[in-house]
Amino acid sequence: MHKNWIAGEWIGASNVQQNINPSDLNDVVGEYVRASADEVEAAVSAAYQAWPNWSLSTPQQRFDALDFVGTELLARKAELGELLAREEGKTLPEAVAEVARAGQIFKFFAGEALRITGDAVASVRPGIQVEVTREPLGVVGIITPWNFPIAIPAWKIAPALAYGNCVVFKPADLVPGSAWALAEIISRSGLPGGVFNLVMGRGSVVGAAFIDDPRVTAITFTGSVGTGHGILQQAAQKQKKVQLELGGKNPLVILDDADLETALDCAIQGAFYSTGQRCTASSRIIVEKGIYDQFTDTLAKRTAALRVGHALDANTQIGPVADASQLQQDLDYVKIGQDEGAQLLCGGQTLEGKTPGYYFSPAVLAHATNDMRVSREEIFGPVATVIKADDYDHALALANDTEFGLSSGICTQSLKRATHFKRAIQAGMTMVNVPTAGVDYHVPFGGRKGSSYGPREQGRYAQEFFTIVKTAYTKA
Ligand code: NAD
Repeated sequence: MHKNWIAGEWIGASNVQQNINPSDLNDVVGEYVRASADEVEAAVSAAYQAWPNWSLSTPQQRFDALDFVGTELLARKAELGELLAREEGKTLPEAVAEVARAGQIFKFFAGEALRITGDAVASVRPGIQVEVTREPLGVVGIITPWNFPIAIPAWKIAPALAYGNCVVFKPADLVPGSAWALAEIISRSGLPGGVFNLVMGRGSVVGAAFIDDPRVTAITFTGSVGTGHGILQQAAQKQKKVQLELGGKNPLVILDDADLETALDCAIQGAFYSTGQRCTASSRIIVEKGIYDQFTDTLAKRTAALRVGHALDANTQIGPVADASQLQQDLDYVKIGQDEGAQLLCGGQTLEGKTPGYYFSPAVLAHATNDMRVSREEIFGPVATVIKADDYDHALALANDTEFGLSSGICTQSLKRATHFKRAIQAGMTMVNVPTAGVDYHVPFGGRKGSSYGPREQGRYAQEFFTIVKTAYTKA
């Protein structure tokens, strides 16, 4: 049984949940203890008590702990990748790559702990020196979604610790296995008790308990829009610092002059890999009219040929959907799209696998318009709409006509159009001739408009959220 890590001890015995493999519903990945509200309180108390000392820890102490975690994640990426593929359903290569990315993130932030700098500024008044320094926030509450069960925890926990904060971490209830494995490594990294705490369980119990607690200074959340807005309102009443990474409806624009193979690769990779369950997925493919028919036909043929199957099967390209409710949501949206007038060119159905699982064939909804629900709402599955654009300006306008603004992309051989698009697209991230999903670990990640709130995650920019500046005036 996998317990919670609170104040330097493994805690809990009751309220156990089973972690089920979506590729094989007979496979129980493990049993995980859900924390009670009292246990969350104990975790917050432990973090609060540990913080005064940890905030004064040396950069070397922080480097050593984070480097230890990064090294072990990289050394165990095959084993932990298998665990991740079993619990979440992405294919083994995708899962191993995610674990490696988590390891690289810990290594990156180990280095950042050694590079915390400030400014020395000449005062406007004689004889006074001004210093601007960065300090940790205090106790940071971390809430993560199920679709990246180790990378997203890593990109929140590593900077929180690197900049001297204490952590209370709540992973998604659906996939506690990878989060627990990460916490187990962190528990052996040399951090003092209470600096890092794991509290698994339901958001409405566990997350809600620490968002309300005045000893938690800041909340960083990745997940759905509805949950994020609720957390923002609750946290704002307590004047907490909040960072939200929410949904996306990411446009991939394909112009007539695009290299067709590149465009098809970008569309298929971006829309359907990781079973389309990525906030950066290319869920709206906007194609200029000159190549619309040719592109759409080829896209449908290639999509229909994708091999859907068990996440651990070496032959599989697309793993199962994560759970029954996601599967139902995908089926519902395919029907909604057809009812709205889009044409289903392939997929959109449940499939029988060799084992009982949530298998679903990737769907292409062509002749969609940008005002359809399937073009406006995040589906979060392997369902892509294909929308026709008259020309580049129309394609750009369609791309920007969304309440979201996370990732975006364009396939073109025109440097002029690519350059214009990079500047004019209203999104936090943009890609030219590369898929909208799939990013580096050492540069900022995040969106605009309804997709994000607060400072960026990852890279050096992470310090904007995880630190607060102090201005000191000294007269010698
Ligand atoms: P979700 O909002 O259902 O849950 C996210 C987390 O919040 C989970 O840990 C959940 O237990 C917790 N939670 C739920 N109710 C809560 C409450 N009342 N108080 C506190 N915590 C609560 O999202 P999900 O289904 O796990 O993830 C899918 C969503 O995540 C999609 O919308 C996707 O776009 C988004 N996502 C965004 C990014 C990004 O960086 N922008 C990355 C990955 C996923």
